[in-house]
Amino acid sequence: MTGTIFRVARASVHDGPGLRTTIFLKGCPLRCQWCHSPESQQPRPQLAVHDERCLVCGTCLPGCEHGAIEEEEKGYHTDFGRCRACGACVARCPSGARELVGRVVGVDELLKEIERDVVFFDESGGGVTFSGGEPLMQPAFLEAMLTTCRARGLHTAVDTCGMAEPATFARVAPLADLFLFDVKVIDDRWHRHVTGASNHAILANLRWLCAEHRRVRVRFPLVPGLTDVGGNVERVGQLLASLGVQDLDLLPYHRAGLAKYDRLGFATAPTTLPVPSAADVDRAAQVLRDFGLAVQVGG
Ligand code: SF4
Ligand code: SF4
Repeated sequence: MTGTIFRVARASVHDGPGLRTTIFLKGCPLRCQWCHSPESQQPRPQLAVHDERCLVCGTCLPGCEHGAIEEEEKGYHTDFGRCRACGACVARCPSGARELVGRVVGVDELLKEIERDVVFFDESGGGVTFSGGEPLMQPAFLEAMLTTCRARGLHTAVDTCGMAEPATFARVAPLADLFLFDVKVIDDRWHRHVTGASNHAILANLRWLCAEHRRVRVRFPLVPGLTDVGGNVERVGQLLASLGVQDLDLLPYHRAGLAKYDRLGFATAPTTLPVPSAADVDRAAQVLRDFGLAVQVGG
């Protein structure tokens, strides 16, 4: 049993109780306009090019059998449409300008990485969080990891965008101690516009988890004009109050991930989205608190 991951973050304090080791799985069914981890979207490993590290030595050029690297007047251009993420140029590059984002790991191998942090889990009441991307896009691997972690007595959390088959949720839910569940937009038409997909399955899965009395902590990204628009914050508060959700992380939009779009060969990046002001964040937090939610800003 193997899965494809793109990062392991140690000692995270934002992905559940205590100190966490967060495993980021590749692949996401949504395309949120504000996404700050575009490297999570594709399910397979992919090439990233850090132009600022390039020595313009040309060592990578003959390594590419797919014609994806071209010499230009001022350096070397990568045609991401031709790239097959074979990694040959990565191995040749002397400066680390080329990187494969994502690797395939086995359950036992990943468990060994996680177990290095058990002492921190024990001291802080922490554990393991499976995030992404969308971890439920690799359901068999996620189930295997959750089962293995549970057998070791580790606390587990699943950080999900909620978009998965109901049967997948039903299989995974008993194996996780906590769900970190993203809720973005309540109006379905607007949800399609800002994420590229309907929210019907997402909200149905959230309702099911809450009805099953699973531990759910909701995460709500605050993006002016996209999620903070037209009474959406109020509607999120209403829905969560009706479902008995108690805890919410309010996540103000930031621009930290913008440089990644260029490195990964995206044609465009969300460079014009506004960042919420402190007053925007305070107002949204108060609206949500008025619905009885315990709101933590950031997370
Ligand atoms: S990863 Fe492989 S296919 Fe892609 S540019 Fe490098 S050598 Fe070419
Ligand atoms: S091998 Fe690396 S440093 Fe040399 S031109 Fe290619 S990307 Fe730049």
